[in-house]
Amino acid sequence: MISWKNLTQGALIRDLKRIRENKTGSWRSLKPIWNKEKCINCYRCWMHCPDAAIIIKNDKVVGINYDYCKGCGICAHECPRKIQAIIMVREEK
Ligand code: SF4
Ligand code: SF4
Repeated sequence: MISWKNLTQGALIRDLKRIRENKTGSWRSLKPIWNKEKCINCYRCWMHCPDAAIIIKNDKVVGINYDYCKGCGICAHECPRKIQAIIMVREEK
C-alpha cells in the first residue's frame, strides 16, 4: 500500500502494470449483462464506465471485461431506456 504522500495530483495512477494487476472485478456484487442483439453501438456505456471495462473492437461493443468491472451499474443506467442492452443481475460466485 502506498502512502498519500506518494500519490500524484488527482490520484492518477500512471503505472499501467499496477493497474492491470489490480483486478477491481473482485469487488462486484452486481454484474452487467450485455445483449449483443439489442446493442446499437452508441458507446454511451463505454464513455461512462469508470473502469474502462466495456470492450470495443473494430468500432463495435463486443463485451465487458469482468476482471475490471466493479458492478457500479453506470453502463446500464446510461444505456438508452428504449434499448436496455445492459441489465444488472446479482453476481453469482
Ligand atoms: S458496471 Fe460499472 S464498471 Fe462495470 S462495465 Fe458497467 S460501468 Fe463499467
Ligand atoms: S449504451 Fe447500450 S446500446 Fe449503447 S453501446 Fe452500450 S450497450 Fe450498446
